[in-house]
Amino acid sequence: MHRKLTGKVVIATHNSGKLREMRELLGPFGIEATSAGELGLPVPAETGRMFSENAAIKAHAAAKATGLPALSDDSGLCVEALDCAPGLFSADWAVNKDFGPAMEKVERELLRRGALAPEDRRAWFVSALVIAWPDGHEELFEGRVHGRVVWPPRGEKGFGYDPMFMPDGSDHTFGEMSAEEKHGIDWLAAPDNALSHRARAFVALARACLEAR
Ligand code: IMP
Repeated sequence: MHRKLTGKVVIATHNSGKLREMRELLGPFGIEATSAGELGLPVPAETGRMFSENAAIKAHAAAKATGLPALSDDSGLCVEALDCAPGLFSADWAVNKDFGPAMEKVERELLRRGALAPEDRRAWFVSALVIAWPDGHEELFEGRVHGRVVWPPRGEKGFGYDPMFMPDGSDHTFGEMSAEEKHGIDWLAAPDNALSHRARAFVALARACLEAR
């Protein structure tokens, strides 16, 4: 049985790009959202071996610390030719939160493996969203978007690896898309339009746990 999320929620992240997107996606549901970063909560160690485990660690830590339901996202970029790296370690490939070096490392590793053709550069983003309540109840939703990585990176929008990821069916990278395009135009009214991994996970979350205003 799914539990409805109403009132206040803490978004269990210290990542400003994710926070912005999660606030945008929560926008239509009348949920008041603060964040772990804004509340100065400690960053829990992400010791899980799956996106869903790390999302649960972050959500339960924030729910316990605040007494509020907490929503977390654990996500990453999986590159097929790199055996799914950077994957769970997507944030760790950045240098002082700069994803320029992380994207260069993806490109370098692909070149080392001779992966030059677009079909050798298949990749996907994963988002695992967990809502945890202070009594320990949790709900998990996952979303994916398939595409490929391109070089050089393109676009100044978005965050993280967005400038090097081009979703299937588009000739723009996430870095070249507006927030609305990355989520998927009109995703709330037309959930099949949801594009990003996070928006796709959000559609499942919204169906189960949210009520539109
Ligand atoms: P974590 O979930 O905190 O471990 O961090 C995931 C990392 O994956 C982020 O720091 C980003 O680098 C990357 N990532 C996750 N989602 C996206 C996205 O939508 N666009 C670009 N990069 C992303």
